[in-house]
Amino acid sequence: MSHIIILGAGLSGLMAAHRLTASGGHTVTVLDKGRSVGGRLATRRVGGGHADHGAQFFTVREPLFDAHVQRWLADGVAYEWSRGWSDGTAPAKTDGFPRYAVKGGLNALATYLQGTLPTESASVRVNVKATAIQPDGAGWCITDEAGATFIGDGLILTAPVPQSLALLDAGQTKLTPGDRAALEAVRYDPCLCGLILLDRPANLPEPGAVQRPDFWVTWLADNQRKGISAAPLLTLHANPAYSAEHYDAPDEPILADLEPVWRAYAPDAVVVEAQVKRWRYSHPSVMHPTPTLLAENLPPLAFAGDAFGDRSRIEGAVLSALAAADAVVG
Ligand SMILES: Cc1cc2nc3c(=O)[nH]c(=O)nc-3n(C[C@H](O)[C@H](O)[C@H](O)COP(=O)(O)OP(=O)(O)OC[C@H]3O[C@@H](n4cnc5c(N)ncnc54)[C@H](O)[C@@H]3O)c2cc1C
Repeated sequence: MSHIIILGAGLSGLMAAHRLTASGGHTVTVLDKGRSVGGRLATRRVGGGHADHGAQFFTVREPLFDAHVQRWLADGVAYEWSRGWSDGTAPAKTDGFPRYAVKGGLNALATYLQGTLPTESASVRVNVKATAIQPDGAGWCITDEAGATFIGDGLILTAPVPQSLALLDAGQTKLTPGDRAALEAVRYDPCLCGLILLDRPANLPEPGAVQRPDFWVTWLADNQRKGISAAPLLTLHANPAYSAEHYDAPDEPILADLEPVWRAYAPDAVVVEAQVKRWRYSHPSVMHPTPTLLAENLPPLAFAGDAFGDRSRIEGAVLSALAAADAVVG
């Protein structure tokens, strides 16, 4: 039995923790700098509403992922939201693939995964910001910003890759040139997200969301129609080009740019509250081709997350986490 430190209590970190602790196999400590678990599974309260402002829904392709999703459905955590999206001009086209959402918002999936970990073998620590990572004998030592240290026989890093590399650099931990080059090749796009609370519902086409991959606002959804908000609260996602160009701009001009897009569906609505959320690492744009990378010439260290493998997104994050968990104790 090994004790594994998992950095990041997003979907990847929590799924790796489940895999490692299943059937009493190993013990884990999961660390996250956030105030709560979830990472990009993010749901925020705005006034009297709730909005998913990171991930919006997920799809399933692989049987291995489907086995987990079936459990989430059976436990009443996930539900099918739709089988396709409108492009804003016509009703949603069905392509047969369920798009799943999470009751109460995507972050509730992370809370569920945290709550179903075995307490005797898993500890999840939030508000722990790692600042350096270095080998410690045959294992690893993680130092946090308060100077506390966490020791493990193995380590899984699930933060966006540039952040994980910075932590290794801070600990003067040297990867092989091949591993370093492979990890430095990974890239992410930013995403600017607008959250608009209205005084009345918007008239979005069924099922309450519009997806337009070729437009500068790729996603527009009403969280009330989605079933997770008591009030009409819109989520808008800008594409990578707009998000990169305006990443450091103040909120007001971004909200002004977004307004005509949602106004088309709510011409007379009054804005009760509006916010901008910035994601520096939203989606991988250049992925590592295999589901995990096990570092060479170091104590057991596996990299995981949605940038590993060939799926990306929520399904990719889960498949990567399972592969990393197996690799780090393999
Ligand atoms: C705007 C947006 C829209 C999206 N839409 C969809 C969608 O509709 N469908 C879909 O499938 N996917 C979507 N995604 C992608 C999906 O959210 C991710 O694939 C998935 O949540 C990644 O999980 P993860 O655990 O790999 O990474 P993260 O969720 O990023 O988890 C990494 C964790 O590491 C922690 N961390 C980082 N540095 C440190 C440190 N120094 N110390 C301690 N902890 C640290 C972070 O706090 C974070 O919790 C979207 C993402 C964004 C941002």
